Amino acid sequence: MIISLNELNKRETGKIDLNFSQKIDNISYCDNTYKLASPISLIGKISKNAKDEVHLRADVDFTLIDNCSRCLEPVEVPMSYTIDGFLVSEDFDEDSFEDYDAFIIDTDEVDLVKIIEQTLDFNLPQKVLCDEDCKGLCPKCGANLNKETCSCSETASDEDDNIDPRFAKLKDLFKND
Ligand SMILES: [Zn+2]
Ligand SMILES: [Zn+2]
Repeated sequence: MIISLNELNKRETGKIDLNFSQKIDNISYCDNTYKLASPISLIGKISKNAKDEVHLRADVDFTLIDNCSRCLEPVEVPMSYTIDGFLVSEDFDEDSFEDYDAFIIDTDEVDLVKIIEQTLDFNLPQKVLCDEDCKGLCPKCGANLNKETCSCSETASDEDDNIDPRFAKLKDLFKND
């Protein structure tokens, strides 16, 4: 998904139609890497306006894999949204793009996957759940309560309820030592 801005400059129409479908394994945002369960589809266009600014508008569709925030099992998360913003160089004038998304690019070759990565953060669902009724992990022993029952609830205290389920699993390991 590489677009050449030189190519855009050469075109009399001042625009390039985009229609990509690309299979890639992972997509990353900051420290988070997500596996993809589908190719990334991107349809839209890149165009120059009268002020010679480069505008990108594209609909993206793909499915990534995140973890259920309660039971930590992998969940397929369908992503479908529109990217609408300007491609700018690093020294861009922030004031003139105040009302728009601005994506900083440092070469004439624009990798659209990198731009999609920058848009992940504000398009990901707040909370990923495998099921609305997911019972989550037992905060004490880490058992996946969708798959098994444990006897902790009878003895659980308020304090133990606050333990992060990921750490509860570790705590369990040490206990067996
Ligand atoms: Zn779950
Ligand atoms: Zn338990």
